[in-house]
Amino acid sequence: MATNVVQGKDLAQQYRVGQGNLRALDGVSFELETGRSLAIVGESGCGKSTLGKIIAGIVEPTQGSVYIEGENLSQASKTEAIKLRLSVQVVQQDVYSSLNPRRRVSGILCDPMVYHRIVRNRKAAADRAAELLDMVGLSPASDFLQRFSYQMSGGQRQRVAIARALCVNPKIVVADEAVSMIDMSLRSSILNIFQRLQDDMGIAYMFITHDVALARYFARDYRTMVMYAGKVIELGPTEAVVDHPLHPYTRMLCEAVPDPDPANRHALRLVPKASDLPDLTQPDTGCRFRARCPFETSQCSNEVPILRTLGEGGHWVACHHAEEWPGMVEQAQEA
Ligand code: ADP
Ligand code: MG
Repeated sequence: MATNVVQGKDLAQQYRVGQGNLRALDGVSFELETGRSLAIVGESGCGKSTLGKIIAGIVEPTQGSVYIEGENLSQASKTEAIKLRLSVQVVQQDVYSSLNPRRRVSGILCDPMVYHRIVRNRKAAADRAAELLDMVGLSPASDFLQRFSYQMSGGQRQRVAIARALCVNPKIVVADEAVSMIDMSLRSSILNIFQRLQDDMGIAYMFITHDVALARYFARDYRTMVMYAGKVIELGPTEAVVDHPLHPYTRMLCEAVPDPDPANRHALRLVPKASDLPDLTQPDTGCRFRARCPFETSQCSNEVPILRTLGEGGHWVACHHAEEWPGMVEQAQEA
């Protein structure tokens, strides 16, 4: 039976801003099985990085619990908590600020292994560092161990950042827009490295991206979770979510992806009414997406939609009109 390596339960995060509280994350629950890839999709500001930091134990949630291999992170003893935190590593977007410019690659990789007693001694750390550099495609390793980050390209730095994440033998890697700043031409090689590490080491990924096409590719064998303004609005098998979205917002995100087929470019688009995000310091009276939704009704202003299953195969959506709107779009397209 598949086991959950990560489970988030009813996670919420409020940031103090001025006189109010900004609800950056609100009631987020999800599961991630061992060795799988969960994509987390949504536009900037929807709470993706906050969620990633909570799972990695970098940010303490205002509410809710994180379970790593069944252990509650906030209730673990001090030593246990350190172990659990090490098992979740983050690879960030910004390859220019994520590596310490004053340290050589050897230090960046070896110090954490020695400090956390992953290896017996410095020599073993150096051997493992060379192995990891090989795994991320920086060969021969001896060419890279003595370099500083400014002596490497963006793609090479990101490979070092991946090797650093791996050196403490994590079970989960939070890849937060990890290829967004990488040149298109190098992206697929980095994605292939992630994939290979999953096959070889059984790593589970929380793959955070604003790009639906990337999510569809990376999480094709598992699930995609779509977030809007701090809430999960859709969650399900990646193919179902991307090809048959049940939330108008997901559909809009998918349509923002350029279609290579020119015949489809002129198909009727789901045009949003407005682009404003809701004020996250105010309590909800209804759906957070309604100001932008072409299908808004009075129910949407008065009732907060809850995440519910629709259809088969664990496809969840938080929309009052999930049953009706796809048919309305189809009709309009035929007319
Ligand atoms: P994403 O990664 O999807 O862009 P974030 O998790 O970074 O979203 O941010 C979610 C919301 O929380 C945004 O409105 C952002 O401005 C706010 N936010 C993030 N970090 C902080 C912070 N440390 N203090 C105050 N507000 C924050
Ligand atoms: Mg972010």
